[in-house]
Amino acid sequence: MSTEFVHSRWALRGYLLYSRLASLLMILVGLGSGVEWATHSDLVPALGGRDMRLTAAVCILLSGLALGAVGSRRRRVRGLASLLCAVVAVLAADSLLEYAGVGYRGIAAGLDAAFGEGLRPPARMAELAACGFLLLGGQGPLILNGRALVLRELFGLGVLAIAMASLASLAFVPAQHGESLLERLPILTGVLLLFGTLGWMSSVPTTGLTRLSTAATLGGLLARSLLLPALLLPLAYTFAFKLLESRFGVSQIVASTLGAVFTGGSLAWMIWLVAALLDRSERLREASLQLRDAADTDALTGLGNRRKLDGMLQRLLHADRRQRLPFSLLMLDLDHFKAYNDDFGHPAGDDALREIGRLLRATLRPEDAAFRYGGEEFVLVIHGAHLHQLPAIAERVLHAVRTNAWPLRPLTTSIGGAEACDADVTAASLLQRADAALYRAKHNGRDRFESTGRAECLAGGSGPGSMPARSWSQPPLGCRAAGSA
Ligand code: GH3
Ligand code: MG
Ligand code: MG
Repeated sequence: MSTEFVHSRWALRGYLLYSRLASLLMILVGLGSGVEWATHSDLVPALGGRDMRLTAAVCILLSGLALGAVGSRRRRVRGLASLLCAVVAVLAADSLLEYAGVGYRGIAAGLDAAFGEGLRPPARMAELAACGFLLLGGQGPLILNGRALVLRELFGLGVLAIAMASLASLAFVPAQHGESLLERLPILTGVLLLFGTLGWMSSVPTTGLTRLSTAATLGGLLARSLLLPALLLPLAYTFAFKLLESRFGVSQIVASTLGAVFTGGSLAWMIWLVAALLDRSERLREASLQLRDAADTDALTGLGNRRKLDGMLQRLLHADRRQRLPFSLLMLDLDHFKAYNDDFGHPAGDDALREIGRLLRATLRPEDAAFRYGGEEFVLVIHGAHLHQLPAIAERVLHAVRTNAWPLRPLTTSIGGAEACDADVTAASLLQRADAALYRAKHNGRDRFESTGRAECLAGGSGPGSMPARSWSQPPLGCRAAGSA
């Protein structure tokens, strides 16, 4: 069974908004850091923007601009985004080549020469930043082409890993554990790489890894609320507990233990949340199934009601004609039931109807179904039965009602039968045929069976789905397993 993937409108909007905000932040920080680098000033000292290398600032600015442009409806603007991403990748590759020690002197070296070496941090970005921007820039064209989804996701995950590793290692600097990854990647660049790659993933939220987290389902809700904490909490704990150790003199053993307790606690909390939501949804599903059952059941007799009969007929008749299995309807109406009610009262009449429900359940085979069609009218759906087999089946029902030990007065019923044998039969026409036959049974003296059918039905036949005669010729009433709708 395939069901359509439905996105949550709010999640989609949220992701796109986040992508825009990430783009804006990158543009602002990229510009600010560029100015700081060029003027040797400190716009936001706490963020250490001056540590950011010029090429990294340019990459952040260009990535931010590309991220802002990628969602545009205009093809040209999207093309521009692709170009900007390519420039980011080239700048990153340039720095990496310089690090490779093959004597390559490229753009970053040229910038250093232009601005005067030694005056400020070199223009060449740190190795880790270069790796991150190479992957981040590489995502752009892949997103725009809408192809190579797996490759794009891998690039994105690579940037995430680099950013997270460098941020986690941040905590080791105050702890004076020597050179950390951080020294190879300033905090601001690390944070922006993290925001940026999440921004790229969010810019096309209907594809890739973000697709599930936009789903308007329980799974979507879980992905939305748990994925980011799962990614970031261990990082935050590493940072917080290493800081406790270095700044507040908490012993390494206590800090690591606290880290383990909090990490385990968070994991358990997430699992608990998943379990609680699954538990709730399972209960809701069960409650809705019970409601559906109640809506399909006749309260007095416990048989299926007319709504359920309609559903079953639709299902049976909608099957492809060639695959459709034969089935027939029997329509019952109690004889002189109005008089029974008048003589013994409505509650006694209700008891009789309940008894009829029980008799029908006991008489039918488990695979067949009985429905209360109206006041004291019932419909039986007999699977696999052709018209010529109906008299035997009906006779069993007539016999069951006739010979039942009724407490007040014997009751009988009349039955009309019809087979769903022709290609253009509808539920309404089939019921109408059975009703016409029932009318004839009443007219011809009651407590009897009549059938109606087109020529092809009357021709009968024991096709592949024909019901074996022994099904109805064996044990007496009441001996069969109860089975109903
Ligand atoms: P006939 O043999 O021609 O069918 O005669 P009848 O008296 O049975 O006529 P009809 O089928 O029209 O009678 C319907 C009666 O069924 C009317 C009403 O008193 C009774 N009835 C319908 N629904 C209920 C119910 O839920 N409880 C009770 N006690 N009686 C009902
Ligand atoms: Mg009636
Ligand atoms: Mg009646």
